Amino acid sequence: VFDVLIVGGGPAGAAAAIYASRKGIKTGVLAERFGGQVLDTLAIENFVSVTETDGPKFAVALEQHVKQYEVDIMNTQRAVQLAPGKLIEVTTASGAVLKSKSVILATGARWREINVPGEKEYRNHGVAYCPHCDGPLFKGKRVAVIGGGNSGVEAAIDLAGLVKHVTLIEFGAELRADAVLQRKLRSLANVTVIVSAQTSEINGDGKIVNGLSYTDRNSGASHRVELEGVFVQIGLVPNTEWLKGVVGLSRHGEIEVDARGQTSVPGVFAAGDVTTVPFKQIVIAVGEGAKAALAAFDHLIRSDDV
Ligand code: FAD
Repeated sequence: VFDVLIVGGGPAGAAAAIYASRKGIKTGVLAERFGGQVLDTLAIENFVSVTETDGPKFAVALEQHVKQYEVDIMNTQRAVQLAPGKLIEVTTASGAVLKSKSVILATGARWREINVPGEKEYRNHGVAYCPHCDGPLFKGKRVAVIGGGNSGVEAAIDLAGLVKHVTLIEFGAELRADAVLQRKLRSLANVTVIVSAQTSEINGDGKIVNGLSYTDRNSGASHRVELEGVFVQIGLVPNTEWLKGVVGLSRHGEIEVDARGQTSVPGVFAAGDVTTVPFKQIVIAVGEGAKAALAAFDHLIRSDDV
């Protein structure tokens, strides 16, 4: 029986593991892929105090740090069920049932992909998903943002201050972002908005992106925009499918947490990209993971469990 079982081995889960085990309590980490999203990242330049690193290096550093402590790491294991109770049970895809006095959910999120030719080929070679992370790489260049919801329009406004030109591509007949964001967007001289446009391909020269092709959904005509980067902003999907009906989720599927990372289920905490906490960033996930571990410890000492 664990005192704290952490589900997820990204930055949030790793931070939670370090903080929990430093309290001398029995800590386990169950992760489908230890390292999480950072494994898919190239340059990381905004993890405070680390001027520059890359994703795989950062993931190794996370694992090494966790391994300094007595943490039971169960990698390449997927959780499929959570059963609340005095002892909380987590069932894995392989059928194992793990029991713990408290659980921290840190299963992260994934960017929704547009699934057009060129997206996978040029990922990290002009195709990006995170303007806070990769925006500065496109300084002085031309980019497109796909998606006219709040995140797409925010990304376009953000990027317009960095890059030479932004083309915002929206599938529907109008943008879906809040009016105030749309007003700001339309006030910017270096932004073009194209609506009713279905992206058909992200073009490249075999190495890097050099254009984006779309079909005008009204006329059926094909067009191509010359550019160096494409930001896909059609949604972030939290990895909570397995928690539906058990833990309180927002309408976007994010785990609802209070200021201490407590979920709707006693003894179950959550941290990182999987939660309602805004701004999905490593430094934020790490802080939230630490906080959830301290809150879980607090919960354990108050329930006479340790
Ligand atoms: P994740 O990193 O998503 O980790 C989730 C963990 O949970 C993984 O170990 C996963 O395998 C596991 N998991 C999921 N479901 C299950 C399950 N059912 N059972 C068991 N385990 C499960 N942020 C920055 O601050 N700077 C950057 O430069 C930056 N660049 C990025 C570039 C890209 C391409 C991407 C995709 C993201 C980038 N981000 C960046 C965002 C950053 O990676 C995330 O904010 C951060 O990784 C969130 O950490 P997390 O621990 O909450 O979740």
